[in-house]
Amino acid sequence: MSDPRPVQLYNSLTRRIEPLAPHEPGRVGIYTCGPTVYRYAHIGNVRSFLFADILRRALEYLGYEVRHVKNITDVGHMRDDTDEDRMELAAETEGKSPYEIADFYTDAWLTDEAAINILPVHVYPKATEHIGQMIAMTQTLLDKGLAYETGGNVYFDVSAFPSYGKLSGQRLDQIRTGHRVEAEADKHDQADFALWKHAGEHRLMRWESPWGLGFPGWHIECSAMSLEHLGEWVDIHTGGIDNKFPHHEDEIAQSEGALGHQVVRHWMHGEFLTLNEAKMAKSTGNIIRVTELPEKGFEPLAFRYLALQAHYRSKLDFTEDAMRAATAGLARLRRAASAASETDAAAVDLAAPPVAAYRERFTDAIADDLGTPRAVAVAHEVAAAGDLTPAQKRALLVDFDRVLGVDVTAGGDAAVVELPAGAAELLERRAAARAARDFAASDALRDELAALGVEVRDTPDGQQTTVRPG
Ligand code: AMP
Ligand code: ZN
Repeated sequence: MSDPRPVQLYNSLTRRIEPLAPHEPGRVGIYTCGPTVYRYAHIGNVRSFLFADILRRALEYLGYEVRHVKNITDVGHMRDDTDEDRMELAAETEGKSPYEIADFYTDAWLTDEAAINILPVHVYPKATEHIGQMIAMTQTLLDKGLAYETGGNVYFDVSAFPSYGKLSGQRLDQIRTGHRVEAEADKHDQADFALWKHAGEHRLMRWESPWGLGFPGWHIECSAMSLEHLGEWVDIHTGGIDNKFPHHEDEIAQSEGALGHQVVRHWMHGEFLTLNEAKMAKSTGNIIRVTELPEKGFEPLAFRYLALQAHYRSKLDFTEDAMRAATAGLARLRRAASAASETDAAAVDLAAPPVAAYRERFTDAIADDLGTPRAVAVAHEVAAAGDLTPAQKRALLVDFDRVLGVDVTAGGDAAVVELPAGAAELLERRAAARAARDFAASDALRDELAALGVEVRDTPDGQQTTVRPG
């Protein structure tokens, strides 16, 4: 196999676009901060995981071997305003054990991810299965004088880690004033953060430790699990923009404090998805779930397509208009892909002109800090190209779909079932009408299609057609 293609990625730590330089050439370890499984995920969370999925797919496309780890936070995610653990709160509200809550929402999350074609990662470590590693790292930090214990609580001492604040670009005095009046009154400094917490009688999830019965802080989980599953050198660490502080800042302090060297080379953060220009958030209820998309008349993959049209470092506002446009754009790509048969496309040489030139431009786009908007634009140029045969178009679109992941061949195989003239346009208009829930228009278009001899059925994958021979 040839060498992987060089790739440029923005690094939140240096605030620059930098070449990816894996610790082991050709192999990339990615750690993605995963979900907290106490509630359903929303499409904002999904956008964040989608960005990590596109990163992984792009690197594989460019010739790297990727090991992708995404954790599941099933303990220790505290509310900011009280000292309560979100898992335990949910368990109490729903009358289940915290483990039942975690299993239930983990399954729901995996189903949501699958609907958006997010590839399964290689390891899904659970916080509750790595308590030993978290205790060991906490002990190392105590031994090195970077943490202190008080009454069964262990805190990281930020004053002992001079570069604290480097990721979020804050000085300690700014961080201090940013902290609210704390439930953790026993800290030496408002900016210190918990590695381990003493568990009261009422706590359901607690473990034995050198400091008594307790449970881990949220941040230590990712330091311990990334070390366990990716080792001391992590090529890329991803998360949503809100993970930068305090979560990733604290992770840097813990991991680098414990190991004595830089651990994560490239920090990457995905921007938010907004709904009506406000952040989509579990806590405010301003959310849409993946499973609600079909109820609104949208295919989940149209959301994936929408997300691809925005760069991962730009905010994206979810609107029904944008989803309708995404539905139509996706339909256009699928129509182009289904104008040739799978067999004909398989015979196309991707390295021969003019095919190779389109492929090169697609590759350039994704190798340039995951330029998915440009990559999607290249896909549309392919779909409309005058210098490509239908088979070449299908071959290229299928190749691009390794990164895009929007199921370009979901439209069927039109070389087998040739559509009569004008039918494709009617189908596109009907898809848009359905997305807009304009069922009267959709029915009228169905009649027009029937007059052309095209029978339409609506399936979860979109419109399926049968052409009457004639
Ligand atoms: P949580 O399950 O709350 O820990 O969130 C999981 C991931 O979703 C984190 O990486 C967050 O940064 C990310 N996230 C939360 N809200 C949004 C949003 N509105 N848009 C994009 N990412 C988000
Ligand atoms: Zn994390």
